[in-house]
Amino acid sequence: MSENYQHRARKRFGQNFLHDAGVIHRILRAIHALPGEHLLEIGPGQGALTEGLLNSGARLDVIELDKDLIPLLNMKYASNPQFTLNQGDALKFDFNRLGAAANSLRVVGNLPYNISTPLIFHLLDNAGLIRDMHFMLQKEVVQRLAAEPGGGDWGRLSIMVQYHCRVEHLFNVGPGSFNPPPKVDSAIVRLVPHPVLPHPAKDHRLLEKLVREAFNQRRKTLRNSLKALLTAEQIEAAQVDGSKRPEQLDLATFVRLADQLAS
Ligand code: SAM
Repeated sequence: MSENYQHRARKRFGQNFLHDAGVIHRILRAIHALPGEHLLEIGPGQGALTEGLLNSGARLDVIELDKDLIPLLNMKYASNPQFTLNQGDALKFDFNRLGAAANSLRVVGNLPYNISTPLIFHLLDNAGLIRDMHFMLQKEVVQRLAAEPGGGDWGRLSIMVQYHCRVEHLFNVGPGSFNPPPKVDSAIVRLVPHPVLPHPAKDHRLLEKLVREAFNQRRKTLRNSLKALLTAEQIEAAQVDGSKRPEQLDLATFVRLADQLAS
């Protein structure tokens, strides 16, 4: 492996490498990693963020799927005792393997956009381990994550992520900051798992089921779209107006409806 190694970006791995030093610094400042912390970077690629994360003095695990990038990452960072390279698929990774204490893991990634939603759900299954997450995502996805009830961006992703986390849309990043440039705008989002859930459901799987059903037919009234799950009486018992559409309901209201399913 020579210093001149040139990696050709692979589309199937969602490889758009960050090259804009200003954006890289801005992301690192937003994360503000400190010695003694435990970071996990998903998809380090050629190390655009990895370098600065390690320079913070924090312990850093990375998970990279592309086997061709492993020698490069080892060459650059393996001599640092704070660095651990895990080759594999972050979607299948067992985060308990990292030995992180509860609420301690700080997750970071310029994520491959094709897997960002399932990956966020996989991480939320392990929310108890996580202190916070900073991701580069497609801008539209960040707008959906940070959406408020009443608009077209409010949907399953907003509700299920806001059930677990506080969401902050930090800043946008244009295509020119990447090589190759993606066809879409990007944005940085911060997700912080709630220390105590503000609206706990009796069974969060039922909440997921109900939200999916409601937004499968987002133009329909709740009375119609939830027909297979709840009677008009149950909707009324949850103090919900069945003539409303799903995008008009906030998280607390969805939880009340889901709790009717559980009772
Ligand atoms: N962090 C680098 C940067 O900012 O330049 C690379 C970002 S690139 C958008 C996404 C990275 O995630 C690539 O290195 C890609 O190989 C890796 N990747 C894609 N799918 C993955 C998966 N399922 N698990 C882990 N890494 C993955």
